[in-house]
Amino acid sequence: MIEGNHCTETEDRIVVLGGGLTGLSAGYVLSTAGLTVAVFEHDSVVGGISKTVERDGFRFDLGPHRFFTKDARIEAFVKELMGDELIVVPRRTEIFIRGKYFNYPLEPVNALFGMGIFTTLRILANYGWERVKRLVKKPVPLSLEDWVVANFGRTLFNIYFKEYSEKVWGVDCSRISAEWVAQRIRGLSLSKAVMHAFFKLKGRDIPSLVDQFLYPRLGIGRISEKLSREIGQSGSMFLNTSVERIHRSGFTINSIEVKDQNGIRTIGGNEFISSIPVTKLISLLDPPAPTDVREAAASLKFRDIVIVTVMVDRPRVTNQTWIYIPEKNIPIGRIHEPTNWSSSMAPEGKTLLVTEFFSFEGDEIWNRSDDGLVSIAIDSLVRLGYIRPAEVIESVVTRVPKAYPLFEVGYRKNLDAVYGFLAGFTNLHAAGRGGMFKYYNMDHAIKAGMDAAEKILNRRAPVRREKCEVALS
Ligand SMILES: Cc1cc2nc3c(=O)[nH]c(=O)nc-3n(C[C@H](O)[C@H](O)[C@H](O)COP(=O)(O)OP(=O)(O)OC[C@H]3O[C@@H](n4cnc5c(N)ncnc54)[C@H](O)[C@@H]3O)c2cc1C
Repeated sequence: MIEGNHCTETEDRIVVLGGGLTGLSAGYVLSTAGLTVAVFEHDSVVGGISKTVERDGFRFDLGPHRFFTKDARIEAFVKELMGDELIVVPRRTEIFIRGKYFNYPLEPVNALFGMGIFTTLRILANYGWERVKRLVKKPVPLSLEDWVVANFGRTLFNIYFKEYSEKVWGVDCSRISAEWVAQRIRGLSLSKAVMHAFFKLKGRDIPSLVDQFLYPRLGIGRISEKLSREIGQSGSMFLNTSVERIHRSGFTINSIEVKDQNGIRTIGGNEFISSIPVTKLISLLDPPAPTDVREAAASLKFRDIVIVTVMVDRPRVTNQTWIYIPEKNIPIGRIHEPTNWSSSMAPEGKTLLVTEFFSFEGDEIWNRSDDGLVSIAIDSLVRLGYIRPAEVIESVVTRVPKAYPLFEVGYRKNLDAVYGFLAGFTNLHAAGRGGMFKYYNMDHAIKAGMDAAEKILNRRAPVRREKCEVALS
């Protein structure tokens, strides 16, 4: 046990940094396999970016969180964990362009009547031109702009991708690495998107276009809550506990220093799984990492978000799961209405709208007062015609740091320097979205946690491994 102000350095314990889906999935596999696990999370609840916030009977996630995976093992794992809490939600999404709503993904008839024949012909002509150019020389895209223009043509890039991407990332599309697009919309071409629109290809073939998904009735955070409860049966979950320092001898981690309301404690362990942002991990090492590694880590950036949730005295505002708002004159980037995911997300007869402001920690949006943010959000919702100010019951502001790893052109060199250094450690396993600086979805995060746990189990006695296989089967 970890007690009082100290713990035994020699104790056979796996220490997990961060209680999001990655850390919890790792902790779950290890504790189910009979190992002693301690998970440290600095928030007051589990789930990290995939948590659900509860306020006076209203429930909301930090942006729309649908569960979808192509990995049968992860799907079976989540289905078994959640049982009859899971519901199937049809995806209904729109995009607000040039003052009009378009179905998303784009449907040709909708787009044709919405954008007009001239723009549609330009889209097709541009697309055709890019296909012809490809026959002469295969493009090697460096940036998001290069990639989208090469795959969809310039007109579709300008209308569909440019404004929204720049709103999300806060930098020009020519500075966002093409690697991001490859991770995000891999395998999606205009012909596939059009085929999907006309012939309704199965969504499983195109993850970006999947048309239904799984969701826990009481919010996405339920997955983390269930994992955490299972870990709590045999291991230890420490909330409101921040990892402040990581002690190492060369390439071996000896212990971490954690801070909670009782002060600072040192926690020893044999193996350490880190799902906290890699930039933080590097900054906490003691003795510090070499200067070039620290500089490389410091140059990796994340995009942050500010969520303003507006509770509304009306049964329903939209019929959409989420709505993209690329328009620059509306500061909100995306809206979702949780009651269209599950009616249990609000008290009877009421609803809520979750608005997202993409931001950088410390910028003008991030630093604005809660009251200021609420009035911008309500003003935007009124301008969009969704609500009247008198219908607002209450609003909540949630700041979400390190929500998206930002893949700027040239980031790879710094990433390699950081992970090249981390690879040298004998008992430190970096995993997860911020932990690996990857555009991971929840299924990837769960898998990353499980993989880190299995790596540790594989080093142990066979009896432990047998237990793990049972846990995962
Ligand atoms: C707006 C948005 C929408 C998304 N929508 C979807 C979706 O529809 N479908 C999907 O599959 N995925 C979606 N995702 C991705 C999904 O949220 C992530 O893949 C997943 O939550 C990552 O889990 P993680 O555990 O790796 O990271 P995190 O959730 O970031 O967990 C890291 C944890 O470490 C903790 N921590 C950090 N520093 C410390 C410290 N010093 N001490 C202790 N604890 C610390 C943090 O509080 C956090 O809980 C979305 C993400 C965002 C931002």
